[in-house]
Amino acid sequence: MSDPRRALQAGDALIIVDVQCDFCPGGALPIDRGDEVVPVLNRWIHAAEDAHVPVFASRDWHPPRHLSFTESGGEWPVHCVQDSSGARFHPALELPDSAIVVTKGIRADRDQYSAFDDTGLALELQKRAVRRVWIGGLAQDVCVRATVLDARRQGLDTIVIADATRPVTRAGGERANEEMRQAGAGFETTDPTQSEKE
Ligand SMILES: [Zn+2]
Repeated sequence: MSDPRRALQAGDALIIVDVQCDFCPGGALPIDRGDEVVPVLNRWIHAAEDAHVPVFASRDWHPPRHLSFTESGGEWPVHCVQDSSGARFHPALELPDSAIVVTKGIRADRDQYSAFDDTGLALELQKRAVRRVWIGGLAQDVCVRATVLDARRQGLDTIVIADATRPVTRAGGERANEEMRQAGAGFETTDPTQSEKE
């Protein structure tokens, strides 16, 4: 169990993956109970602000008729189209003004599941001397998985906030956990007993 206010240290960053309306209940590609990650992530966000730990928020940001859409022969229904309401961050996610938005899914030649994939995120982390990243968001077995595996490839200490992510499928989530663990990622759950101090 981790209390965000004790866990976050200098040299850390918080990476929030794709907590967008289309991935939450009511959206175009809803993940079961996807919105339940929001209050958990808000606790981490507030703790990060107080500890001056940078907050990165990735977003899927597809052009219309993106190759990942089934209508274009891809795998997913139309989702997170640039500037659509479904592409917005969940309205209850309390991103600070200082949050750094990482945009992905804009390439015409391939999809980008990882927040590190051709986005400049690795450089932004280097600039801030980040050595350890805490990662949560959606979906556990797709973009969170890819982001965690890339963070490990970058040599970053990597911790998955296990209660701040949800999978597309339970089996996929279990497989992803095993892959992330084998890649050297750690897992922490958020201590629910710690009340939020102002
Ligand atoms: Zn997408």
